[in-house]
Amino acid sequence: MTNITIIGAAGRMGRRLIALTAEDPELQLVGAVDAFADKLRDVDAGLHAGVSELGVTFTTSLDAVLPKTHVVIDFSAPTQTVNYVRSAFAAGAAYVLGTTGMSQDTRDELAILARGGRLVAASNFSIGVNTLFVLVEQAARILGESYDVEIIEMHHNQKKDAPSGTAETLGELVAGMLDLDYVTDTRHGRHGLVGARTKREIGMHSLRGGDVVGDHTVIFATGGERVELSHKASSRDTFAAGALRAAKFVVGAEPGMYDMRDVLGLRTGK
Ligand code: NAD
Repeated sequence: MTNITIIGAAGRMGRRLIALTAEDPELQLVGAVDAFADKLRDVDAGLHAGVSELGVTFTTSLDAVLPKTHVVIDFSAPTQTVNYVRSAFAAGAAYVLGTTGMSQDTRDELAILARGGRLVAASNFSIGVNTLFVLVEQAARILGESYDVEIIEMHHNQKKDAPSGTAETLGELVAGMLDLDYVTDTRHGRHGLVGARTKREIGMHSLRGGDVVGDHTVIFATGGERVELSHKASSRDTFAAGALRAAKFVVGAEPGMYDMRDVLGLRTGK
């Protein structure tokens, strides 16, 4: 049995993670951490997630639940990520990180921390999107720099960060294949008299509206044709199921930083 604590447990992803954990005979929910927990005092996390009572009430304190936790699953906000990961590793717990919108400094700090702990971090835990990652790398390798690459993502109107973490991963993969620098060579939207598109750029466009769970399209366009690779998520359960699969993987892994392609055995070289 693997004991799971969820951070962001009252949120959209947190509720689905709790529901799927409750259905899985190999997993047991032992902690439900959320910054809103004061407003949910004495509320059972299972009932809040729309499943049966699980005997776990919300808390704001990760430290309070770490002694019984084998794996922390964090889908919250990036403000406390480094502190949470540090505390989890100090208590011997592994960490599955789904939160997006982290700064490069935070990512660098996590990579250092992961030398002494087990961490799976992924901008997207769905199997379909991780397949898209592999296909986009292959397309960039085959089509090369004569094809213009534009990335479009759409999410619900409550999403706080833009572009999505998944779109950033797609951009980083394309940049890696085409010897571009993702940070300096990405053009975020276009407005006004911006001039002709240059060859050394990746276009990035974020749409927001309604209840869209997550759509991503990568367009490779050249004279006479274009290739479009798309993924559309219609349920958060695809991310939650992937995160639980990552939790089962990381609990038995060596210390280090992994992503979903390690979990799925999908890693490919350039
Ligand atoms: P949400 O706003 O519905 O839920 C976030 C929850 O986290 C809220 O209940 C909030 O109170 C809580 N929270 C915020 N800061 C906290 C903190 N410091 N400590 C404890 N709890 C805190 O958001 P959501 O749609 O569930 O998404 C959560 C995160 O997961 C976002 O960063 C989102 O981009 C990311 N996400 C990642 C994937 C993936 O596959 N990697 C998929 C979907 C969403």
